[in-house]
Amino acid sequence: MTDSSGSSFAQNPPEDALEAALAESVELGLPASIADLSALVRIPSVSWAAFDPAHVEASADAVAELFRSTGAFEAVDVLRASTESGELGQPAVLATRPAKNGKPTVLLYAHHDVQPPGQDADWDSPPYEPTVRGDRLYGRGAADDKAGVVSHLASVRALAAVAGADFDLGLVVFIEGEEEFGSRSFANFLETNRDRLAADVIVVADSDNWDTETPSLTISLRGNVTFKLTVSTLAHASHSGMFGGAVPDAMLATIRLLSTFHDADGSVAVAGLTSRPITAPEYTEETLRAEAGLLDGVQPIGTGSILSRLWAGPSITVTGIDAPTVANASNTLSPSVSVRVSARIAPGQEASDALAALEAHIRSHAPFGAHVEISDVDTGNPFLVDTSGWAVSAAKDAMRDAWGAEPVEAGVGGSIPFIADLVRVFPEAQILVTGVEDPHTRAHSPNESLHLGVFKRAIGAEALLLLRLNSRE
Ligand SMILES: [Zn+2]
Repeated sequence: MTDSSGSSFAQNPPEDALEAALAESVELGLPASIADLSALVRIPSVSWAAFDPAHVEASADAVAELFRSTGAFEAVDVLRASTESGELGQPAVLATRPAKNGKPTVLLYAHHDVQPPGQDADWDSPPYEPTVRGDRLYGRGAADDKAGVVSHLASVRALAAVAGADFDLGLVVFIEGEEEFGSRSFANFLETNRDRLAADVIVVADSDNWDTETPSLTISLRGNVTFKLTVSTLAHASHSGMFGGAVPDAMLATIRLLSTFHDADGSVAVAGLTSRPITAPEYTEETLRAEAGLLDGVQPIGTGSILSRLWAGPSITVTGIDAPTVANASNTLSPSVSVRVSARIAPGQEASDALAALEAHIRSHAPFGAHVEISDVDTGNPFLVDTSGWAVSAAKDAMRDAWGAEPVEAGVGGSIPFIADLVRVFPEAQILVTGVEDPHTRAHSPNESLHLGVFKRAIGAEALLLLRLNSRE
């Protein structure tokens, strides 16, 4: 290939020729990336305490081997840190190469652990058997977040293919092993490995995209407050025919109490949980119905624009209940009932303030003087990304060029609480929250899947960002 002056592009390739070569490398590497992702999906790396930790270890080893095989890293290690309560956390992978010639260092984050699969019967193909149907790859972790892991891997491979293995950009790859179990050793991991993790830009590939054709850069995340709520009314169970009608059973008290969390239209009715005013892109009720799978005739809840409810308002969900099962139901007054309450909180509110508001509401609304106990509290602060830095514009440019579509600055209703830890430990670093999910991914649910077109475009955008940062003055 020569230009009009006869000089070879290969000796001094202009930027656009390098970028075209990069896009081709991403395209050619896609089958290998899908194969690597499929191999990771086959490892059931559920990080929850009740699941076999050997699978998470195997998964960490497999991820480390993949990054080692790129030849782009000076060191690739599987490391653990202890949790706040002193137990050893799940294994993470840390791979590093120092920057040269004054170039920046980029930290690439994803996690290799997954949520439990739920009931196999709810899956159309087995959760740990990666299966392509149409343009999607199905399996637990196929998107969240093993595709994030492999998008980093594929981006590094593409960069090394066109810039040479000796490229100047500094890289830190941090693949966590317990994101789905509350990132319990994350803060200690950051402190222990602070020097190796230090970077100018941090890419957190664990979020989603506007749709399969339009990329998003996530700029706001809700926080969360979850806890176990136990409601008790009786010292022991009694025959419902003996005392029913004169004493309240715990189920009645629990139902009455939980019903006070929402107004008649489904808006959250807990005083002190705040909302944040936002201007959001257009998103119709029709799209909400299709993406959430809302049944015919069932109405959405809450007020205001739909995205303001999802991105910038609170929500409260009861996600589990300990009570006699229907099969075991006897004519008994239940003395106590426990539920798991999961609240999402708007950017702008501290998780501790939201917890205090929920606790005050529960204590003042407990019916019939029922005893209430709150335990097993877990909180994560919401987060707003500072979008004023150069890395945000560079990331949006790379997305626009790789996807051929204008990126959306998006909020998400979910939470990534550890981002607050990253900002605390590395206040100078610029944070980019990207991802490989789309509205039909069903992360955490049966039939989780990755859109393979999104996968390719997400790799293309990240590889392009890395290539441009590698030549940044
Ligand atoms: Zn995730």
